[in-house]
Amino acid sequence: MPNRDPFAPPPERAVFCNRTLNMRSIQAIGFDMDYTLVHYDVVAWEARAYAHVQQRLLQHGLPVRDLRFDPGLFARGLIVDQQLGNILKANRFGYVTQAAHGTRMLAHEAVRKTYSQVWVDLSEKRWVFLNTLFSLSEACLYGQLVDLHDAGRLGRDRALDYRGIYELVGETMDAAHLEGELKAEIVADPARYVPLEPELAQTLLDLKHAGKKLFLATNSEWHYTRPMMSWAFDRFLPGSGWRSLFDLVIVQAKKPSFFDGEQPFFAVVGDRVATEPHPGPLQPGQAYKGGNAQLVQEHFGLAGEEILYVGDHVYADVHVSSQIRRWRTALVLREVEDEVRHEQAFAPDQARLLQLMQQKERLDHEQAALRLTLQRLEHRQAPPNGVAANAHGVHERLRALRTETEALDHQIAPLARAAGELGHPRWGPLMRAGNDKSRLARQIERHADVYTSRVSNFLWLTPFGYLRAARGSLPHDPPATSQPR
Ligand code: IMP
Ligand code: MG
Repeated sequence: MPNRDPFAPPPERAVFCNRTLNMRSIQAIGFDMDYTLVHYDVVAWEARAYAHVQQRLLQHGLPVRDLRFDPGLFARGLIVDQQLGNILKANRFGYVTQAAHGTRMLAHEAVRKTYSQVWVDLSEKRWVFLNTLFSLSEACLYGQLVDLHDAGRLGRDRALDYRGIYELVGETMDAAHLEGELKAEIVADPARYVPLEPELAQTLLDLKHAGKKLFLATNSEWHYTRPMMSWAFDRFLPGSGWRSLFDLVIVQAKKPSFFDGEQPFFAVVGDRVATEPHPGPLQPGQAYKGGNAQLVQEHFGLAGEEILYVGDHVYADVHVSSQIRRWRTALVLREVEDEVRHEQAFAPDQARLLQLMQQKERLDHEQAALRLTLQRLEHRQAPPNGVAANAHGVHERLRALRTETEALDHQIAPLARAAGELGHPRWGPLMRAGNDKSRLARQIERHADVYTSRVSNFLWLTPFGYLRAARGSLPHDPPATSQPR
């Protein structure tokens, strides 16, 4: 559709709205750092995380020397089934639509057989939701270790089951993130890992100049946060630097417990973190380690709905802050840019697919009416409205319908396949599962008031913008307005 609004961003850079958000009502905005204000080149960053974990697993005696990070194997929003060593995609109801065992995609029939009686309930320990782009290296390694396990190649760790493998990968990944080497590599060469975004500083400046209090709340450590923020912002803020943007800077926030816990704040002075908790009220312009959302809210003297929190982690940034604190939430979902571009390019084919499916529906309907006619005739009853009571004619028409349907299916199949591969050749669109919404889309609509590919998209929204939620569609809407929603 041509975009005639001169103030609108390109379609893939819009802020998409689940729940009406008036930016004028927002008095304070909190930002996560990693993959939110500081976006990483996923292939470069995750390859390093992967390499560090691989090194540790090698030292542990696992035969992983020849493994390589493959960023295309999995995607955010997929779900690990720790019980069966699978990674899968589910629709909004938790029904499994696609699955891989280890790294190998399972055929449709195998998926159906394994999961027809199983619903993914994320509150059960069996399932692990891939919440962020940081999950890609972990999922890749998990799939590859499941393959090694099945091939009987895990050596002395052969006794590990699929759950044990997940725990091993998770713990090793935690250690790699916490211990300094991985992050030291990033800090030493930020140009390689963090693409610069000139519009980002202006976006935050606009918000600040409009009177909104900005704060940073990241799980990263101070020694990592400082150089990363400096790299991403300082050149665009000559004479002031990144700290001038924020009323509060909070590192090692320990989200999600930051949002419901009572952990104390520790002041960061220079590069030193105080060993004693900070007494008394928070000081504007100060950096702290730890802390909790309740005190941040008291510091600003605001109600939950006056605070917007922007982050990329579906659970730790968005789910918990909205559910527990009732803050307004924005999810940063970089993948949406590709997805929107692909969907736009595919739009003519999508229209054709819709048209063919409507034709198929009509044929199906006619077939059903004819079968019912035969049944009625058998019981000496009147046929349904509009059908001639002639068994011979009905049989002939049924044969013709079968041929027509087959021909239609031949046209539909390649289009449906292409639609299912949009955005990701293995898993298809992030937000859709077949014709339905994906489990990820469900999480997002429940917990993220808005979602967008990057923070700088707020530049177009402006600090005064008003986002209205679209009118939700329902199955009984008239056909013209019925969109999957
Ligand atoms: P934030 O997104 O700014 O809150 O920061 C995320 C922090 O979590 C970064 O310091 C990452 O290094 C860290 N992180 C991401 N994934 C993992 C993990 O799997 N284990 C432990 N730390 C992680
Ligand atoms: Mg983050």
